[in-house]
Amino acid sequence: MQQNWDVIIVGGGSAGLSAALMLGRSARRVLVVDEGRPRNRFAGHMHGVIGRDHTSPLDLLAAGRADLARYEGVTIVEGKVAEASHGDDGIEVVLADGARHRGRRLLVATGLTDELSDLPGLAEQWGRGAFVCPYCDGWEQRGRRIVVLAGGPNAAHQAQLMRQLSDEVTVLAQGVVLSPEVRAGLVARGIRVDDRVATSVVADERGELRGLLLDDGAELPADALFIGPAPRPNDAVARLLGAEVAAHPAGGEFLVVDAMGRTSAPGVWAAGNVTDPRSSVPFAMAAGNFAGAAINADLVEEDVRAAVAAA
Ligand SMILES: Cc1cc2nc3c(=O)[nH]c(=O)nc-3n(C[C@H](O)[C@H](O)[C@H](O)COP(=O)(O)OP(=O)(O)OC[C@H]3O[C@@H](n4cnc5c(N)ncnc54)[C@H](O)[C@@H]3O)c2cc1C
Repeated sequence: MQQNWDVIIVGGGSAGLSAALMLGRSARRVLVVDEGRPRNRFAGHMHGVIGRDHTSPLDLLAAGRADLARYEGVTIVEGKVAEASHGDDGIEVVLADGARHRGRRLLVATGLTDELSDLPGLAEQWGRGAFVCPYCDGWEQRGRRIVVLAGGPNAAHQAQLMRQLSDEVTVLAQGVVLSPEVRAGLVARGIRVDDRVATSVVADERGELRGLLLDDGAELPADALFIGPAPRPNDAVARLLGAEVAAHPAGGEFLVVDAMGRTSAPGVWAAGNVTDPRSSVPFAMAAGNFAGAAINADLVEEDVRAAVAAA
């Protein structure tokens, strides 16, 4: 049995729920399918979100779901969209449990996955002692011993941002060649550049970060690590529907969307981290808000065409 909706939203994080709010307030029938694994679920607190600074990211999503309960057109189900295809009159999806749904439009708001390096002990510190974003987690580490593990081009930028917050910043180049200009900029601001290589992350008996074991056997103490995981967009559903991707200036291949989130695939929008590795929670909310409004406007235009044809 297939259920019909105006809009199917895949992903119920900040982007997906914000879009659902716009569509619910437009009296649309909306299905949100959410696997419940938002990118920032590893973090105890969320920052840089006005009105919600230093609160749980999961509490924000719970509050979003509570807001949506006011709009009877919006239904949220736990689950994973496993298949998606263009049908005669819209887009059909199949959930992992076999449930089938059809939407006149579809929004992909599935976020991204941070692919951590396989450095032993790193995964246990993710979101706890190892962070990616100085704006999200830097302030809490101010004045502490910061180690930036170079893994890509962003490392020097991260280190310079963290230097704003601490006098004790070390960059471990991890074999990455830093250009003479980049190295000079780091050293000039008192950032240490250490050419030894970290071989594992060391934690104390409570699991708190203690430092890094280096390839010469020494231990480098650290209170916080800043790292650059590879951002892998969760874009399988959009790709199944033929949406175009392109190299993103911030790294990786991401969906190509216009200013309102429309992809190259007919009837398919995308918003949030799945379109841009730099997305923060407020950015994802804004993108979802825009996409929700744009989808509603597109449906209205279709309704006008149908009404004129019928008249
Ligand atoms: C450790 C860490 C800390 C962070 N801290 C901050 C912070 O302090 N402030 C800030 O602004 N940003 C922070 N961020 C960034 C923030 O997590 C993202 O900007 C935000 O989550 C993006 O929202 P989104 O809706 O695009 O994706 P997500 O929040 O990742 O939501 C996507 C949802 O889609 C679901 N999904 C994926 N595929 C499917 C599928 N096929 N079917 C159904 N559901 C699916 C996922 O399970 C998930 O629930 C942090 C990130 C990390 C990694």
